Amino acid sequence: MGATGLLMEYEDMFPFTGELKVVNAKNGYSKEDVKTILRLANESGLYVIPLVQTFGHLEFVLKHKEFRHLREVDKFPQAVCPTRNGTFSLVQELIAQTMELHPEAKYLHIGADEVFHIGRCNVCSRIGMKLGPGFLGVQAAKHQIFLAYVSQVLQHIRRTYPAVKPIMWDDMFRTMSAREIETGLGELTQYVEPMIWSYFSDWRHHLPQYGDLYKDVFPNIWGATAFKGSSGETAQIPNIKTQAMIHTSWISSLRENGHKMKNFRGIALTGWSRFDHFNPLCELFPVALPSLAVSMQILQDNEMNLEGVQEAAKNLNCQPDRPATLAFLEFDPNLDEFNNCSFPGTEVYRSVHAVMDLLVRRIEPHLKELESNFPVYQLHELYVQASRLDEHLRWITRHEKILANFMEEIKAAFKLVFDEYTLNEWIAANVVPVWTKLEAWKVVLTNTSLVEEWSSRPLNIPPFSVPIALPIGVTDTTTRLSHSSKVVPYKNNFPEQTTVPSGV
Ligand SMILES: [Zn+2]
Repeated sequence: MGATGLLMEYEDMFPFTGELKVVNAKNGYSKEDVKTILRLANESGLYVIPLVQTFGHLEFVLKHKEFRHLREVDKFPQAVCPTRNGTFSLVQELIAQTMELHPEAKYLHIGADEVFHIGRCNVCSRIGMKLGPGFLGVQAAKHQIFLAYVSQVLQHIRRTYPAVKPIMWDDMFRTMSAREIETGLGELTQYVEPMIWSYFSDWRHHLPQYGDLYKDVFPNIWGATAFKGSSGETAQIPNIKTQAMIHTSWISSLRENGHKMKNFRGIALTGWSRFDHFNPLCELFPVALPSLAVSMQILQDNEMNLEGVQEAAKNLNCQPDRPATLAFLEFDPNLDEFNNCSFPGTEVYRSVHAVMDLLVRRIEPHLKELESNFPVYQLHELYVQASRLDEHLRWITRHEKILANFMEEIKAAFKLVFDEYTLNEWIAANVVPVWTKLEAWKVVLTNTSLVEEWSSRPLNIPPFSVPIALPIGVTDTTTRLSHSSKVVPYKNNFPEQTTVPSGV
């Protein structure tokens, strides 16, 4: 598809050893797995750039009690405190173990993006006080602390791995002046290569905004777009139109401003799987492969055109009798344009599309309809039109069966690509909440259907007050009804969370 490299951020999937072993995910890669990834990348003509976070986004380390003392803010395990004893040796060790498994690496990406907590601890905050009063002092201190710490990391890399060039995310430089950066980094500006990440579809947000700041400071600059994992923390299917627009906008940006750069190295297409360490999984890799193929093609062609999309379809082994079109741009950006293709993970692509279609287009709208037809305050008083209950109960039962069948497909598809933890997490995040609501509505509707006589209006609705009383809802209704001799408690057969609903 035209890629020349592979940027790998392992986070807790890396097989760390020694004191760092505690940070490893229990379903992480083994050393052999990493070697296999490197071998396959090499065979595919891709050089691998490992990415090790060195300042922020270190939740996977700092969340553990063994490293808690290194947090900048004790409550938030996001960023290390640069002045703490032990911080730098931790970062050195993260780098050393990563580089040991990447002996051929020509570049090392040190992350350093979104360091939200700087200058907050007792020691670091004193630097701000010295630099001046109020906001300006705090900002100047943050910049100074950031640049001093990054310089320390860069000097360490230059000393220890002289053949390796460091790359870092650019966003922490964005609020600085060129002079501040030059003063803070000194001649390291000639050594480190910032990577401008920007996932906007408006080209004016990329190079014009940040490139002007960097062009006289850094000789080498990279860009970063996104083919997945940038549109929503819980998004499951990349909106190909949106992702395509990010790439066409970068092309416009480079066309207008690229000449100002001394050396524009290239573009990394990021594909995030979580917005941060504590977030649920978002758009999975196989589901996003068509987005990657289209995005790669746009960058190859320097524009988006029909031939390019068809070339992307060819790379995805789509059936030639159903040529891909640009329909996703004109009609539905989530359109299942690549459903007839055969690429690694096609089964995951198809089954996730099928389940999300059922959930988003059919079940969730029906749940909204139930909420408006049967408002909670009326359910509390068991005050509903009885003739509509059976119809809704039948609808729920029918759709639970369809969903259960789809779950079998999801299980089989995920087993081809992912481990059981990933399968269970995906279902717990995307299916279980909807399934729980369906089951809850079954309980409510079944119990409510047993009522045969109703009271006069007005209903007994308590006046609104703050703080608001506990919601009157499902549990309350069920409890009230369970005291009545008429009611047969409904058996909740919802499967335990994180198991696949089946046989319902
Ligand atoms: Zn500190």
